Amino acid sequence: MTTKQEAKILPIVHYPDPVLREISRAILPDEIRSPKIQRLAFDLEKTMLEKDGAGLAAPQVSESVQLVVLRHENKTLFLINPKITKKSRGKITEQEGCLSIVDEKGEIIYHPIERHKKVTCLYYDLNGKKKKIQAEDPLLARAVQHELDHLIGVLFIDYLKPQE
Ligand SMILES: [Zn+2]
Repeated sequence: MTTKQEAKILPIVHYPDPVLREISRAILPDEIRSPKIQRLAFDLEKTMLEKDGAGLAAPQVSESVQLVVLRHENKTLFLINPKITKKSRGKITEQEGCLSIVDEKGEIIYHPIERHKKVTCLYYDLNGKKKKIQAEDPLLARAVQHELDHLIGVLFIDYLKPQE
């Protein structure tokens, strides 16, 4: 049995590690409740909380699978095989950072990035149940977009103009 208590902090890989550019594979329905995926999910959560991140995607700990954790209202959301199905026309620009993108001193680098204000996302939870999240809070919507980008090898720095 896998429990939260056994979770451990995993090393986070940093840009330009090639795993951050891979396309993550979908997790099979039968695999969701496997010890390997459950353990990875709780390890991701513990790592995110330890690093005080708003979210963390599996590729950031060298696992190229479609699993993301997000912090929302003091809870952790576990998103398996997530897909954004709706995006607001409205966009908003805010400072954004990533635990995988740090300077020479290991400090997180922040840049203003434009994102959709609201998104709707379909995903499977840790029990393999299909779920939907309507992220109306621009911060959560931003986190969803940022973390899902990690699953297709996209980093927020890809949105920067050359002079920034
Ligand atoms: Zn990131």
